[in-house]
Amino acid sequence: MRISKEKCVGCANCVPVCPVGAIYIGKDGLSEINTETCVECHNCYRSLSCEHLPPSLTRLIRKILKKVSLRFQPDPDVCPTEAIVSEELEWPRIVRQAFSDPMVTHESTGVHGRGTEEVKTNDVSHRIKEGDVGIVVEFGRPGVGTYFREVQKVTQVLAGQGATFEEGNPVAQMMTNKDQGDIREDILDEKVLSCIVEITVPLDETSRMLNTLKEVSKTVETVISIGVSTVCDNQGNDAVKDILIQQGYEIGWAKLNLGLGRVTNATFSSGGNQ
Ligand code: SF4
Ligand code: SF4
Repeated sequence: MRISKEKCVGCANCVPVCPVGAIYIGKDGLSEINTETCVECHNCYRSLSCEHLPPSLTRLIRKILKKVSLRFQPDPDVCPTEAIVSEELEWPRIVRQAFSDPMVTHESTGVHGRGTEEVKTNDVSHRIKEGDVGIVVEFGRPGVGTYFREVQKVTQVLAGQGATFEEGNPVAQMMTNKDQGDIREDILDEKVLSCIVEITVPLDETSRMLNTLKEVSKTVETVISIGVSTVCDNQGNDAVKDILIQQGYEIGWAKLNLGLGRVTNATFSSGGNQ
């Protein structure tokens, strides 16, 4: 993403719309993007509507009005001179957009943005089977972002503990060695708005893996959230809940997949209830 110095009039409307604080007003009074911080989410480009005021005249009017303590300020959701420019991105920078822009389809999965369905479609995909626990580790959200080198700190430790990475997950697609949790070297310095690592472990490994995550999270320079999922048995019992409570987690809320995509409960399927 780029801001045209020729067009920008320094109204600062674009500054608050950047989720990672990459836009600022420079010494020349015009807007700039810190390209290192920018995750190419395209929020600034998309969320402001554009007017087509002449930049030189608009700057002059703003200057004159300022002298008499008045202001010409466009509506807050407008870039008055269409100064924000979306640029064609090349590898590896394009990885930033693939993981950060919810309007872009992730090539590895065909899903938008971070490109993972997690376990939301488990009734169809059967990613997590009975007796297994799925753990998702989300990096960078909200509003912090993460470099892949920070993500790799965690994936390498998880791999060393025997975790199995979900094949269809976009971060796993960026790995050169899943047994070691190595992410391809050319994207380690790329920053994204957020990304999710998905692993599967046997139920009795849950506590050990959560403890491992707790330890390694202390070494990572971003925010980490952890989600745990399981498949209830035919009676609706959830075996992982007690483990989480023992671990000191509060069970506050959950997403439930009712299995409407496919009948997975033998009790119902044998009775013909769909
Ligand atoms: S909204 Fe447009 S004109 Fe205003 S500071 Fe941002 S880029 Fe410049
Ligand atoms: S593309 Fe996203 S991260 Fe980059 S400057 Fe715009 S809003 Fe900020």
